[in-house]
Amino acid sequence: GRTLRAPAATVDTHCPYCALQCGMGLRPTGGEEGVEVVERTAFDVNRGALCGKGRTAPAVLSSRVRLTGPLVRRRAGGPLEPAGWDEALDRTAAGLSAARGSYGPDAVGVFGGGGLTNEKAYALGKFARLVLGTSQIDYNGRFCMSSAAAALNRAFGLDRGLPFPLADVARTGCVILVGANPAETMPPALRYFTELRERGGKLIVVDPRRTRTAEHADLHLAPRPGTDLALALGMLHLVVAEGRVDTGFVAARTSGWEEARAAAMAHWPELVERITGVPVPALREAVALFCDAESSMVLTARGPEQQSKGTDTVGAWINLCLATGRAGRPLSGYGCLTGQGNGQGGREHGQKADQLPGYRRLDDPAAREHVARVWGVDPAVLPGPGRSAYELLDALGRDVRALLLTGSNPVVSAPRAAHVERRLRSLDFMAVCDVVLSETAALADVVLPVAQWAEETGTMTSLEGRVLLRRRAVDAPPGVRTDLEVLNALAARLGWERGFPTDPEEVFEELRRASAGGLADYSGITYRRIAEEDGVFWPCPEVPGTDEADDPAVDRSPAPHPGTPRLFLDRFATDDGRARFAPVTHRPSAEEPDADHPLLLTTGRVLAQYQSGAQTRRVAELNGAAPGPFVELHPRLAERIGVAEGEPVAVVSRRGRAVAPARITPGIRPDTVFMPFHWPGEGRANTLTNPALDPVSRMPEFKVCAVRVERAGDS
Ligand code: SF4
Repeated sequence: GRTLRAPAATVDTHCPYCALQCGMGLRPTGGEEGVEVVERTAFDVNRGALCGKGRTAPAVLSSRVRLTGPLVRRRAGGPLEPAGWDEALDRTAAGLSAARGSYGPDAVGVFGGGGLTNEKAYALGKFARLVLGTSQIDYNGRFCMSSAAAALNRAFGLDRGLPFPLADVARTGCVILVGANPAETMPPALRYFTELRERGGKLIVVDPRRTRTAEHADLHLAPRPGTDLALALGMLHLVVAEGRVDTGFVAARTSGWEEARAAAMAHWPELVERITGVPVPALREAVALFCDAESSMVLTARGPEQQSKGTDTVGAWINLCLATGRAGRPLSGYGCLTGQGNGQGGREHGQKADQLPGYRRLDDPAAREHVARVWGVDPAVLPGPGRSAYELLDALGRDVRALLLTGSNPVVSAPRAAHVERRLRSLDFMAVCDVVLSETAALADVVLPVAQWAEETGTMTSLEGRVLLRRRAVDAPPGVRTDLEVLNALAARLGWERGFPTDPEEVFEELRRASAGGLADYSGITYRRIAEEDGVFWPCPEVPGTDEADDPAVDRSPAPHPGTPRLFLDRFATDDGRARFAPVTHRPSAEEPDADHPLLLTTGRVLAQYQSGAQTRRVAELNGAAPGPFVELHPRLAERIGVAEGEPVAVVSRRGRAVAPARITPGIRPDTVFMPFHWPGEGRANTLTNPALDPVSRMPEFKVCAVRVERAGDS
């Protein structure tokens, strides 16, 4: 029963998946999905190129794989059964109210996602604080890039993942790519690195595995997992020892150098070789490539960030950039390749435990005052900061008794997942908004089917800090509502009389006002401007007197703010305008190998699957290409435990056991095994991972834990 609101022509939009937010066109068809993907070459980031995930994205629109009506569990332990919207919403409001009534507002939790549009992330934060009155809201982006965000704030006073457009990557002299595998996670981005090398630039890849990305590198350094902080310190040591410090830049534009220098001097190359396993000559070569180039960059992804010392690890790489004058200058700097589709925007508008819209701090009185004014409430009613994502999940069924979850699948994606699954099952009540019946939705008391990507309009902020417009191209099935409609309906049932806007553009207009004057200032951005300019880079404050600029009949004077593709060229966003060195030293991971668990496990992604796989596992072509998990291990290790290619291997950590077929490759360190984390069940990698948290970012240590491996039949 899909009724197509056939667009007159192809609709320009963006991919539903990763933070590259590739441009694509959607053309109506008579088929089950309603639309097909066509090239959109005018969008300069991907120029029409898409990976398999983007190319096959319409498959998830099909009613065969997605939810088309609400489901409720009418008795404890009973099945999820089809229900009408009124019953589902009434039950949700009653479940949330009961917990609040019995235990207080903080007994209700809200868990969001980094794939939600800016409008939804904003509305969810507002709903939690005003309607539910709870401080207990956080989101899965905490698992994604929060360590880079914390390090960026500490060093530069501002967290925008990339302070320059991706196009600059192709034009710099040298890039160090740390713990990032764009060849599998965002293939269309690879062209920037290919172009870099074609122009004579150098690519250094730091990764314990010889990934598809490492295959493209001039130099591949393979440190032991959890030691890249020491690697960065070792490089900084050589920079000092070889007289390569840019003393003029350090004096004019930074603070804290002496302490950072002293920390680096305590990490001499031979010590760093012992810690990391990277030979001293390779370290010297990396320093020479990085410093001999006229401009250079360090880009990190989840590798250095998903550690219990992730903030300091990213800080160490930033220190290297600062000491060599590779920041705040054209074609140079540090950047983070954010992962989730709206990983950047998702952290700016208030669905994070410690934040209000505009990237304001919840404990800052002026910030509370500003946002409360926009929301028409007394600042005193705004709750304080809540728990971070893992701490929130760990509190379920104890302090937090009811949960509203949207855009996330923690049963597969959270660390120590079996424990998290038990916590979710122990809740008094859970409602899940999702497009498909994910492993987490299957545990809910109420499942609310929501519209997705091509079925609704909204903005996304890509890894470049560029605000983009995803346009509605097709109607959602009739039994489906948007997240904004769900929040509005719940708000009414929970006694919020003023309503919640359900029109995305109306929400964006409010978001603009809420963000005005904040670090992530969107006040000068409108849907119209995004459409005309193919995206606007924040910060983009509104210039007084330009509001009429939305009316083409009115003369545009003064000129609106152009947006900010490149940050920090004149000054950093700190109070004194100087970038801050971080005084960081190496320390071990939270869990080091011992006699019982002598190896290290690291986790990551494969080309054909996305995050918890809730969507991509339902797409036949993608599932055919990557049907299940595997354990990557070195031939020497495979021989020692006696497994052949494809035979089941058990990986055992202090938290559990996972089994998957062996994939034997000399491209991984002999002391390390790797598992992708996209699958539930026996091969769920996150059964094994360690929820030890970074003290600043509260990021769990997905990238390193101690394990043993054995033939699956042996235990
Ligand atoms: Fe989509 Fe990312 Fe693939 Fe581009 S690279 S098509 S945004 S999943």
